Amino acid sequence: MAPVGALEAAVALLTRAADDGATVVLSGHVQPDADALGSTLALAEGLRRRGARVTATFPAPFVLPASLGWLPGADALVSSDRLPADPDLVVSLDAADLRRLGDVGPVLLAAPASLVVDHHASNPGFGHVTLIDPDAAATVALVADLLDGLGVPLDATLATCLYAGLAADTGSFRFGNTAPGTHHLAARLLDTGIDHARISQRLFDTAPFGWLGLLSTATGRAVLEPDTGAGLVWTWATVAEAGEHGLAADQLEALVDVVRSAQEADVACVLKGAADGSWSVSLRSRGGTDVSAVAQSLGGGGHRMAAGFTSHRDLEETVAAIRAAL
Ligand code: MN
Repeated sequence: MAPVGALEAAVALLTRAADDGATVVLSGHVQPDADALGSTLALAEGLRRRGARVTATFPAPFVLPASLGWLPGADALVSSDRLPADPDLVVSLDAADLRRLGDVGPVLLAAPASLVVDHHASNPGFGHVTLIDPDAAATVALVADLLDGLGVPLDATLATCLYAGLAADTGSFRFGNTAPGTHHLAARLLDTGIDHARISQRLFDTAPFGWLGLLSTATGRAVLEPDTGAGLVWTWATVAEAGEHGLAADQLEALVDVVRSAQEADVACVLKGAADGSWSVSLRSRGGTDVSAVAQSLGGGGHRMAAGFTSHRDLEETVAAIRAAL
C-alpha cells in the first residue's frame, strides 16, 4: 500500500498546479511501455482539462514504440530537448528510479516541485511528493486515483490510455498482480465504451511479418540451464538483427514473453544488444525466483516476476553475472 496520505498529498499538489495554471512536465521512463505512456498521456490530458499548462514527454531517445503510437495524445508528445524552461512541476510516472528518467531526471531535480507516481517496490522515493504503491498492478491504476481526486470524469480518451497500461502490466489480467480492484478499474474503463479488444490486438497481437524471423533467430539459439538457480533459459538478439528483419529496436521487447514459457526454467532471460555494445537485459520469473533482487544486484530494478538491468560487459560476462546472482 502507498503510505497513508500519499494520495491526498499528490492530489493536493496537482490541484494547486491546475488552479494556478502552472507549467507541468510529465514523463515516463526511458524506452516507455504502455504503462509509462498510458500514465503520462492520461494524467497530462486530465491536468490540461483542469487548467494546467501541460507538456507530456519521455526521456531520449525520442523514438515511440510502433505498438503505442496510436494512443490518444501520443502525437502531442514533445521530445525531452524541447521542454519548457523552468517548469513549476515535474511528474515522473512508472520510473523505478532517477536513472530511468534519463535526461528528464535533471529537469525533475531542478524543478521547484516534483511528484513521483510509481508501483515498483524498488523505487527509492525520489522527488518532493511520492505516490508509490507496490500493490498497484500498474502506474495507470494510481493515475486513475489521481484523476478521481482531481474530479476529472473518465471518458473513452482517458480510459483508452489507462486500459492500455493496465492490460500490459497485468499480461491481460493473467499475472499475480491482478487483484479485485484491477478488475473493478477495468470495468469502469469498459463502461466508457472503449474498444478493449482492438486495444489488446494493437498491443499484443500486432507485429510486422519480420518479427517471426527475429523470433526464429532468437528462439533457435535459446539455451536451457536446468542447474542454474531454479533453472534458467536465456537467449539474445541485437538491434542490428532486428534491423535485418526490417524491425525497430522495440520489437526485441516481446521476445521474452515467448522465451519464458519454457517450463524447465524458473527464470527466463533475453539479452538485447544495443548499437553501442551494451546489453539491455529482461528477466522473468515463473514464481520461484525474485528477479527484481537479481536485477537490483546488477544495477537495475523492477518487480518480483519481471525485472531488468543494463550491462556494459560483453554477452558471456553478462550471462556469467546473472548465473552468479541466481
Ligand atoms: Mn508499470
